Amino acid sequence: MQILLVGAGLSGAVIGRKLAEAGHSCRIIDARSHIGGNCHTERDADTGVMMHVYGPHIFHTDDQEVWNYVNGFAEFLPFQNRVKSTTQGAVYSLPINLLTINQFFGKTMRPDEARDFIAGQADRTIEDPQNFEEQALRFVGRDLYEAFFKGYTEKQWGCAPTELPASILKRLPVRFNYDDNYFFHRFQGMPKDGYTPMIAAIMDHPNITVQLDTPYSADMTATVDHVFWSGPLDGFFGYDLGRLGYRTLDFERFTHDGDYQGCAVMNYGDRDVPWTRITEHKHFSPWEIHDGSVCYREYSRAAGPQDIPYYPIRLVKEKALLADYIARARATEGVTFVGRLGTYRYLDMDVTIREAMDTADAFLNCARRGTAP
Ligand code: UDP
Repeated sequence: MQILLVGAGLSGAVIGRKLAEAGHSCRIIDARSHIGGNCHTERDADTGVMMHVYGPHIFHTDDQEVWNYVNGFAEFLPFQNRVKSTTQGAVYSLPINLLTINQFFGKTMRPDEARDFIAGQADRTIEDPQNFEEQALRFVGRDLYEAFFKGYTEKQWGCAPTELPASILKRLPVRFNYDDNYFFHRFQGMPKDGYTPMIAAIMDHPNITVQLDTPYSADMTATVDHVFWSGPLDGFFGYDLGRLGYRTLDFERFTHDGDYQGCAVMNYGDRDVPWTRITEHKHFSPWEIHDGSVCYREYSRAAGPQDIPYYPIRLVKEKALLADYIARARATEGVTFVGRLGTYRYLDMDVTIREAMDTADAFLNCARRGTAP
């Protein structure tokens, strides 16, 4: 079969590879001039530092098969994300852990004491948290919420935390020990040479052609048997029902001699600091030595039509529109919608790869049986 994959990110690469290995002919196109989507990495021309061009990407997963898969295409080196937060005039350890709690409240509690203490802080009147704020108040109480989550979240999402789903906070744990690893997954690491060579290796197959600087046009489908669309879901339909909301990011680049902040990611919890976080990229490759340093101050705002979409917003308004687009997507024969943009979900890289593998397998099973995918 002739397959067109729109988008040269993780979804397009993984699906393309599986289909290519099964003997199908895959054409992957991307409007940008590089592969990798928002996982793209490249070396800074001045300092040689490996840059996460579209913001920090740390690979973490509990999925053994996904971990084996990525290790088949890149050498991964150990990396643990140890995020800090500057808030209310001090620096703390994230995710909220025993060090954070003891420092924040000026105490020397052991785990059980801290657990009881935080339970006393928590708002027990909220039984079934309906939104981000309620979730935070229920689990950590008002003081920690206001220091670490309220301001950051208002900056990141541009709305009151009461308007956001509780699920966003559920991404973050609270630990009653000194484990400051941001992620709790069994496998965590960073590709030694960045994500882009890994994605290039996935796409490196004789049955795959990749064309960059190539925007999709409807006439491309005339000669293909199936399309995998990892561009924006609403974009496929020309936005004719309206636009699904996204947050976009602006990165303000600056350089520094030596070490600027001593860690890869420093969050800023105060509302009156306009950026959400500062990323110092060389700390993502701690095995490399660089004298110079490159940092990004990261600002979040509502995405306009020309901006790169990063985070799907998924508030009530978007959910109604999303349901309409999903109904149309289901009714569109010959096209499968995949990935963060194609399904309008806040997906981590490992989940994106898992879903891409499963989508490709399901497609191949249908193709073997001669049924429609
Ligand atoms: N968050 C917060 N304070 C922080 C870090 C995160 O309030 O210091 C909230 C914020 O709403 C964010 C969400 O938790 O969108 C998920 O955080 P995560 O670090 O997973 O965000 P990502 O790195 O994917 O942007």
